[in-house]
Amino acid sequence: MSATPEAGVDLRGSNTLRLPCIAEWCADVQDAADIPRLLAFARERGLRVRVLGGGSNVLLPESLPGLLLRMRNTGIELLEDSASRRVLRAAAGEPWHPFVLHCHAQGWHGLENLALIPGTVGAAPIQNIGAYGVELDRFVLEVRGIDLQSGSPRVLGAAECAFSYRDSIFKGALAGGFLVTEVLFVLPRPVVPCTGYAALAAELAQCPEPGPAEVLAAVMAIRRRRLPDPALLPNAGSFFKNPVVTAEVFGQLLRAEPGIVHWLQADGRVKLAAAWLVERCGWKGHRERGVGVHDAQALVLVNHGGGTVAALTDLAARIRQSVRERFGVLLELEPVPF
Ligand SMILES: Cc1cc2nc3c(=O)[nH]c(=O)nc-3n(C[C@H](O)[C@H](O)[C@H](O)COP(=O)(O)OP(=O)(O)OC[C@H]3O[C@@H](n4cnc5c(N)ncnc54)[C@H](O)[C@@H]3O)c2cc1C
Repeated sequence: MSATPEAGVDLRGSNTLRLPCIAEWCADVQDAADIPRLLAFARERGLRVRVLGGGSNVLLPESLPGLLLRMRNTGIELLEDSASRRVLRAAAGEPWHPFVLHCHAQGWHGLENLALIPGTVGAAPIQNIGAYGVELDRFVLEVRGIDLQSGSPRVLGAAECAFSYRDSIFKGALAGGFLVTEVLFVLPRPVVPCTGYAALAAELAQCPEPGPAEVLAAVMAIRRRRLPDPALLPNAGSFFKNPVVTAEVFGQLLRAEPGIVHWLQADGRVKLAAAWLVERCGWKGHRERGVGVHDAQALVLVNHGGGTVAALTDLAARIRQSVRERFGVLLELEPVPF
């Protein structure tokens, strides 16, 4: 598809849940320079503009009004290579995992824990992607893009992005109002591999001094074992965020459920494993109306074939209700409903 909007575009192949969706208008952004023209197209017709990357964290409706911009712009550039850090610029449409592999191959280390996360560079700051003890925010220098209201370019420094666990300003005050065109990353030197996360530490147990290559291999091995490949079984990764509760609430839960899986947070609060809560409510492997809960990973809802967004959101709502009734904990959805 070109940068000229097309009407009635089928998005089933553009989201990893393979949900059926027809976009009223859709254009692929190969070059950020085309964006002002596309925004003018939308303005002239009174269309709302939405942005899609790899479609690995969205719940698409069956019919999507407005103009959808699919980010396909590419380019990776090393801007600074000093003794204390490397600074890189990557275009929003760069696929994330190949970007991580490219950096690793160049010797620009640091991103290895975030390998194999689906999606694009431009979407990575939206929910501040994280895995295996590392979150993206520690590597973000700037997020550059366009304010969709004014059409003006805007640069946000890391502090302005208000990053937190699976969250940022792009899901808050700027939700739906900002298009990321490129991200500047800072990779501190010397690289200190981050291997403290329990599953990663266990995978690396036989490796006395793991470096970036060992961390990369271990992360990829764990992910391939644990997570269903969306190409084989459509899914959007974790469907629920891990809830964070106060120490007091945790104390009560622990008395009732001594085996509750949890992680103590630096601020004294406690993060609970949403997968464990869902599993304890008996949902693991559950199937209905073409959708279900993965039989090995209770946090992942899947489309077994013929599933719809209505079936999926209905299932998610009942899972949330049962977790709330049993544990008094409210699960938040991770994928973004459009
Ligand atoms: C199997 C699997 C495993 C996963 N594992 C992880 C994991 O370990 N950790 C993790 O954090 N996430 C994980 N995810 C979720 C997902 O991969 C990430 O959230 C990823 O960053 C989404 O990228 P995307 O390009 O597919 O975004 P999309 O799904 O296309 O979009 C997600 C949101 O970002 C917005 N967006 C996308 N691109 C832009 C842009 N350029 N400018 C403005 N807004 C934009 C969209 O409008 C939407 O609101 C997983 C998903 C799957 C399917």
